[in-house]
Amino acid sequence: MTTEAVSSEAGPARLDEFRGQVLEFLADNLPDGFRGVGALAGDVREAFLGPWRDALVRTGYIAPEWPVEYGGAGLTQQQRIVLDEESARAGAPLWALPTDPIGFGLLGSIVLLWGTPEQKQHFLPALVSGEHRWAQGFSEPEAGSDLFNLRTRAVLDGDEWVVDGHKIWQTQGHKANWIFLLARTDPAARNRDALSFLLVPLDQPGVVVTPIRSMTGEEEFAEVRLEGARTSAANILGAPGQGAQVALSLLGFERSAFGAAHVHYGSELDRLVVLTREQGLEDDPGIRQRLADARIKIEVMKAMSFQARKRAAAGSSPGPESSVFKLYQTTFDLTLTELAMDLLGMGATITTGQPSATVLGPDPVGTPNSSAAWQSAYLRSRAAVIYGGSSQIQRNTIGEQVLGLPREPRPTGGRA
Ligand SMILES: Cc1cc2nc3c(=O)[nH]c(=O)nc-3n(C[C@H](O)[C@H](O)[C@H](O)COP(=O)(O)OP(=O)(O)OC[C@H]3O[C@@H](n4cnc5c(N)ncnc54)[C@H](O)[C@@H]3O)c2cc1C
Repeated sequence: MTTEAVSSEAGPARLDEFRGQVLEFLADNLPDGFRGVGALAGDVREAFLGPWRDALVRTGYIAPEWPVEYGGAGLTQQQRIVLDEESARAGAPLWALPTDPIGFGLLGSIVLLWGTPEQKQHFLPALVSGEHRWAQGFSEPEAGSDLFNLRTRAVLDGDEWVVDGHKIWQTQGHKANWIFLLARTDPAARNRDALSFLLVPLDQPGVVVTPIRSMTGEEEFAEVRLEGARTSAANILGAPGQGAQVALSLLGFERSAFGAAHVHYGSELDRLVVLTREQGLEDDPGIRQRLADARIKIEVMKAMSFQARKRAAAGSSPGPESSVFKLYQTTFDLTLTELAMDLLGMGATITTGQPSATVLGPDPVGTPNSSAAWQSAYLRSRAAVIYGGSSQIQRNTIGEQVLGLPREPRPTGGRA
């Protein structure tokens, strides 16, 4: 098949042609009888993901919208939607390494936006090849929602930054070898102007990474201690003091990074319909109402996703409206997984069958309809209303920056 990017002026005919290319790519690179990554047992999944990632790298689909020169496929927003949707329908993940979502969804997007030509040339191909595996180093033990009140400090020593601090809740941080972080670089400046956005290698003396077990029982994140850790003076995104601005644009990406969420949730809902029948509850009016509400919300999510893509295609970075999506999606996740628990009834209290294959987000296509899978989806959905900024914080952002309501009273004082 050809991997050339189709015209950026993708009209309906060109989009159909592109969809054909994607389907051909999936058929060529997925094993015969593939029912979705969620259907694979742990060891089979591992064996599948390596060659699958290689295929994504060869075609540039690993970073669909990036320019080809950095290892992307140069796709338009509409093409990206087609790729996301068809891959999700086939149960084929667009990101294969556990650190890829942070690397491509966050670091890659922000390097493209803020990086110098040299930084793009250096960091983007290393992310594509898997040489650099990224963790997000924003939160600290006493600075999560109040992100800019962090304590980590960095000082310039010749041509290197020297970093001291303690970061926590780094998703897949124990599998990463680089971290992007916010550090206080100007002790005299006002809180926001005091911060810089640094890119720091983890594999060096002075860095200790400790995995943390989450309530699903898995080690999903880590904490990172830095004592005299070093990184080149050139490894800063934006200018010193611009860290808050860089971080805010990154949070916009994080909160709107929904890909084909509606397809994934659609397949979760299909599983729930099967479960409803299995439990003999298909005539229960309350359950029927909840299933119908879920279907409507998935359609709304699809429309929101499309609008956001259109705005991005018109060149605007995700703004505060990405909080609307984050809140909507994660609230929906709570509702859907609660419905699963209710359908399972007492069966929800015992763990049977295969667990689901995801770390965060909805289950991929092919995930079994087991109580083990629904239990992990249920527990994961509790975390989704916290990470990327909690629901309360999203409500503040929507109230103040989207609806123009009066500002929430802020605590006076605080650390500087
Ligand atoms: C699964 C998971 C993965 C994560 N991954 C990462 C990662 O990769 N990298 C990273 O840096 N961080 C990560 N985090 C951390 C996450 O971003 C923080 O937990 C989050 O920002 C909340 O901060 P906090 O835990 O310090 O809670 P706090 O800020 O202490 O908040 C506690 C409670 O108070 C509420 N609250 C706080 N301030 C306000 C306010 N002004 N108005 C209204 N309510 C308020 C909060 O909503 C919350 O309910 C992850 C968290 C989870 C759960």
